[in-house]
Amino acid sequence: MNERIDGHTILIGLMAYPIRHSMSPTMHNNAFAKLGLNYAYLAFEITNDNLPQAIDAIRTLDMRGSNISMPNKQKVIPLLDKLDPAAEMVGAVNTIVNDHGTLTGYVTDGTGFMQALKDENLDIIGEKMTLAGGGGAGTAIAIQAAIDGVKEISIFNRHDDLWENAKRNVDIINENTNCKATLHELEDQDDFKNEIQDCAIYCDSTGVGMKPLEDQSLVNDPSWFKKDMIVYDTVYAPRTTKLMNIAQDAGVKHVYNGLSMMLEQGAEAFKLWTNQEMPVEYIRDLLFSEE
Ligand code: NAD
Repeated sequence: MNERIDGHTILIGLMAYPIRHSMSPTMHNNAFAKLGLNYAYLAFEITNDNLPQAIDAIRTLDMRGSNISMPNKQKVIPLLDKLDPAAEMVGAVNTIVNDHGTLTGYVTDGTGFMQALKDENLDIIGEKMTLAGGGGAGTAIAIQAAIDGVKEISIFNRHDDLWENAKRNVDIINENTNCKATLHELEDQDDFKNEIQDCAIYCDSTGVGMKPLEDQSLVNDPSWFKKDMIVYDTVYAPRTTKLMNIAQDAGVKHVYNGLSMMLEQGAEAFKLWTNQEMPVEYIRDLLFSEE
């Protein structure tokens, strides 16, 4: 790192709170070093209170951009000059690109999810998706899948404070894309089972399966799954969730955790800043080869 940094090094940030635990600085700095790119990526503890000054600093310091995470993904929008159409539909930004003082907001979680499937040679365009969860991750996944051409999305949410957000996602998809989205109550287990049995991909974006719910799954009966479907859990710690175990018990061929989405959302941001492909396999081996 010391050998790489000089008077020309271009800074990229990560603005969130809390953020010290993030893997993103290690991921991006290793990718810059591998490709010999003169960039450095640093994490900054930024809350809603100091966000306006932090965004101004991107222009003042001529940073190339920043990642944005909680609690700033929505609050940052009015501080930017332009929004990518997907970010506008999602209503959140996780990546900012600075083009000579003009700041554009993007969301790369959804494109990262779709790319993760492409990496496995899986094509869900024209297919039906059943999706549990309409929060941050679920919103980005549903909207990008609809933009890209998934034919139908059945979104299941429980009646909590994100129900209205899931409803908003369904309306936005139906108004702006050719995809047909419907909202379903997670409490209706018969409906949930039918929609899972009728889809090409079931995705869980609820976080059930990670701490403190690591011994739980929304689906507990392997007979709900078909062997030729895709089961994707956005959770990546633990690497194998209870949902994944149940899908594997059912003999499902394509079962994934959220690691690929996490890597590819980073790779999408990396490309927006540098115009270069992140060496994803190198980063995967470097950071996640232990399991
Ligand atoms: P969020 O709080 O915005 O949304 C959570 C969603 O899950 C909501 O729809 C909520 O209704 C539902 N939910 C929560 N607890 C539930 C329960 N016990 N039973 C049923 N439904 C429940 O959270 P988020 O930011 O969308 O994150 C959700 C998960 O996705 C987390 O595990 C997070 O780590 C993961 N995630 C992964 C990636 C990745 O790159 N792999 C990216 C973002 C988020």
